[in-house]
Amino acid sequence: MIINFECGKCKKKYDYNVKKICMENSKVVFRETPICTFCGEDKDYFLSEKGQGEMTELMFEGKIKIVDDLS
Ligand SMILES: [Zn+2]
Repeated sequence: MIINFECGKCKKKYDYNVKKICMENSKVVFRETPICTFCGEDKDYFLSEKGQGEMTELMFEGKIKIVDDLS
């Protein structure tokens, strides 16, 4: 699953194959950490506008596993 991210450090946008996406307690969890392909940042990243659209699409297609821990 390739999603578009934006790096919080160098502000560049990049595509990253995160392999799998889950929703755990309303929090998005990526199987692979989307490391910035420009500067290597692995913590300060967020979904770009394009990425948000891609996420919405995947959600709509039921490709994002939702794991809700209700306990
Ligand atoms: Zn970067």
